[in-house]
Amino acid sequence: MPLAWASVFNPRSFRGRLTLWFGGLSLATLLSVGLYVGHIATEELADFGGQSLHASARSAADLLAANLGERDKEIRLLAQLPPFTRGDPRAPDLAKALDLRIQASGEYAWIGVTDAQGVVLQATGGLLVGMNVSQRPWFQAAREAPYTGDVHEAVLLAKQFPQRTPSEPLRFIDFAAPILDDGGRLRGVLSAHAHWSWVTDTVESVMTQSAVRRQVEVLIADKEGRILYPFRHTATLQLPSLARTSAPYEVVHWNDGKPYLTSAAEVQARTSTPLGWRIVLRQPLQAAVEPMQILHQQLLLFGLVTALVFALIAYRLATRVSQPIEQLAQAMHHVERGDQPPVYPQDSEQVTEIRQLSDSIQSMTGALLRHERELETLNASLEQQVRERTEALSIANQELERLATIDSLTGLNNRRRFDARLHESFQLMRRTERSFCLMLIDIDHFKAVNDQYGHQGGDEVLRRLGHLLTQCTRVTDFVARYGGEEFVVLVPDVKDEDEGRHIAEKIRTTIAGAAFPAVGRLTASVGLSCARKGDTDSAEVVERADKALYTAKELGRNRVVQL
Ligand code: GH3
Ligand code: MG
Ligand code: MG
Repeated sequence: MPLAWASVFNPRSFRGRLTLWFGGLSLATLLSVGLYVGHIATEELADFGGQSLHASARSAADLLAANLGERDKEIRLLAQLPPFTRGDPRAPDLAKALDLRIQASGEYAWIGVTDAQGVVLQATGGLLVGMNVSQRPWFQAAREAPYTGDVHEAVLLAKQFPQRTPSEPLRFIDFAAPILDDGGRLRGVLSAHAHWSWVTDTVESVMTQSAVRRQVEVLIADKEGRILYPFRHTATLQLPSLARTSAPYEVVHWNDGKPYLTSAAEVQARTSTPLGWRIVLRQPLQAAVEPMQILHQQLLLFGLVTALVFALIAYRLATRVSQPIEQLAQAMHHVERGDQPPVYPQDSEQVTEIRQLSDSIQSMTGALLRHERELETLNASLEQQVRERTEALSIANQELERLATIDSLTGLNNRRRFDARLHESFQLMRRTERSFCLMLIDIDHFKAVNDQYGHQGGDEVLRRLGHLLTQCTRVTDFVARYGGEEFVVLVPDVKDEDEGRHIAEKIRTTIAGAAFPAVGRLTASVGLSCARKGDTDSAEVVERADKALYTAKELGRNRVVQL
């Protein structure tokens, strides 16, 4: 499959490049725009989250401050009521009034009245009545002035109230005020223990479900930065030092090692004793920017899908352009190899430039092919001409060769041919010791024939004599016109000189017995010589034959002389 894919998608091809460029550019554009928008949105979201934390912290702090102020004020005012300042603190009606107050709303756990020495005289539910609480911080403080105490674990009342949360100890905050008589002397102390859960419920009331979903936590810290609420953090978590500037929120690392979007608000309660609490809302930064991460992922997915779609569109577009070009290239290959007829792109909706290119190539190829065919035809006719000329030349050469070695008048071998044959025969004799004989034949008184019958008549005699010599010798004998009216016969492979003489006689008598048209009878003289072992050169044989011929002439002609 990868091979098949590679053949369809070649990254170096036009369509491959266009696809990659389109896909890459659209991906880069969408990603950069997406990331830029995402970055801005992340900052906006973080700011929005921080501002919303701050608003919640502020409203929780204000609500708590108002509630604490009211409780503080209530206890201070209660302590100034005549039943406390003048009446009998043990009066049952007072106990009834205190119980009714507790039942009115659930914030108080206990309200009691002590005497000036710290003995509880009266209390809701009769709890702690008769006990000496002079060592309790609230009593000691409230002897002097109204007092609001920080949260503390229940000491004396611990066993009196059911524990709301098993893992958490029972905790209270104390409000106390001195009871003074008309003369301003201390009669006792009025004290109320409010449930800590009342405080925390107040604070938690600002937390919406959406905030809980976004992992927003609300915390209460005291003036030293210790966490008072929630209880699970009291021992481990410490409020990090926050820049107490006008910044409504900060991103800070808490001592659990994680960054949080954090906003703190002072609880500005008008209590008798300043508490210095702060309401802190924090949200893990991760959770704060989580929607942005989801947006990022969606943007990335959108970018990828869009890039893919763009790449596909680019691929389709590029294919429309490149396919006809590839078809053209294929057609050109076929033209080049000549194996198949070229197939040109046919799509009528082609890009104009491609159609023009295709048309041009088609007409150019047609013209080239026509020229090629013409050239082939021309070439074939040229080759034919060359063949014919070569043949003619060869024939002419053969004729020339023949003319060079044949005597034109008699058709016999000429002197040149004879010289070559003589040389061969002499060499052969030396190697094989086979001898040969040479006969020089000269027509007697030929001059007179010419004189009497003209040159034409003489020529006719020469032709006739050539014919006679050919007839009366064997095919293996070599007959040539030696020059003028002299002929030569070379008889190879003779047994002895007698055989040579016998053949020479036969020739002489044949000539003497033959009739020459118009001329009548003629004779010839023959000089005979056979090659001998002692001969150093073929010329010696010719020389002897020539001498023999001369002798034959001298001795009266029409005879054979052998030397
Ligand atoms: P002899 O018996 O001594 O040989 O006498 P001859 O007349 O034959 O001797 P000579 O050599 O004086 O004459 C030869 C003549 O042959 C001379 C020449 O005109 C003639 N001749 C040579 N070649 C040709 C030829 O090709 N054609 C003709 N018609 N005559 C030729
Ligand atoms: Mg002669
Ligand atoms: Mg002669």
